[in-house]
Amino acid sequence: MPAPVAPIPVALVGIGKIAVDQHVPAIAASPDWHLVATVSRHGTVPGVAPHTDIAQMLDAHPEVQVVSLCLPPVPRFAAAEAALRAGRHVMLEKPPGATLAEVHALQDMAAARGLTLYTTWHSRMAHAVAPARAWLADKTVTRAHITWREDVRKWHPGQDWVFEPGGMGVFDPGINALSILTHILPRPVHLTAATLTFPENRQTPIAAQLTFTGGVSADFDWRQEGPQTWDIEIDTDAGPMALRLGGNLLEIGGQPSGGENSIMGEYPALYARMADLVRQGQSEVDLAPMVHVSDALTLGRRQITDPFHF
Ligand code: NAP
Repeated sequence: MPAPVAPIPVALVGIGKIAVDQHVPAIAASPDWHLVATVSRHGTVPGVAPHTDIAQMLDAHPEVQVVSLCLPPVPRFAAAEAALRAGRHVMLEKPPGATLAEVHALQDMAAARGLTLYTTWHSRMAHAVAPARAWLADKTVTRAHITWREDVRKWHPGQDWVFEPGGMGVFDPGINALSILTHILPRPVHLTAATLTFPENRQTPIAAQLTFTGGVSADFDWRQEGPQTWDIEIDTDAGPMALRLGGNLLEIGGQPSGGENSIMGEYPALYARMADLVRQGQSEVDLAPMVHVSDALTLGRRQITDPFHF
């Protein structure tokens, strides 16, 4: 029988919506991990040493090997840099940073120190993404369309940072779709045009229409009330395929072909991957989804709509 592997001591930074909804339960359920400290100005986790400053936490907990960052993207770089400089491995929520250059800087820092850096993309862990990628591998894609329409008030209640510079607006959920697309398409595409719709009182778009090479397009909208839509529909030389429910359900030729109607497996899979990366001394940094967002913000034609208030 193999010897049991010791759990990895981890600290969570930014105890807000996603930390409480997904990270804390995923860590608690895994024998790979032991949550020893948190850093957050307001949030805490019962039974876990609370800190409000990352430098102070790193000093107080030399046993912490991994720092998992659940902050919004803009404050994330400084926390990641502090953790890497203190010799800790780092796991980044999506999007991995506010800019591409800062993630490249973190990648260099981690590599120079022999530390793991993992840019997580939780939607890639959805139930039907791996089978969709496998099915598409030997097909020719003739057209693809993403419809990603959800209600910002439901998923980001009161989170004004999403509408501040660096918050990415509707690309905060849209990048989840792009993380799936960039993972499953057998050949890469690039963006050629975008229309971005900004509320007149906000700094980031609330809706976006994107056009890519290869017949690929996307419709992101954060104003959808009622049923939410997270679909990717792809036509191929072997007929149509679709991913629904954020990559959790697969359809081939219009028929259900697998997956599961639940998102609960995504974060346990991310932490399992991070445990493997740390134990193997490797990093995983993929910026492909963020390149498309950056290109859309570079090429996008701007239109103005009604003011938005939570
Ligand atoms: P959140 O609840 O607004 O923020 C997380 C925590 O970060 C806050 O509770 C806050 O903790 C801290 N924080 C916020 N702004 C800060 C700032 N300017 N400086 C320092 N700390 C700050 O956000 P979230 O929804 O959890 O999202 C965090 C990340 O997870 C985002 O990148 C998002 O894309 C990703 N994500 C979110 C969801 C979702 O459903 N919401 C799903 C998947 C991934 P303190 O005030 O206690 O310091």
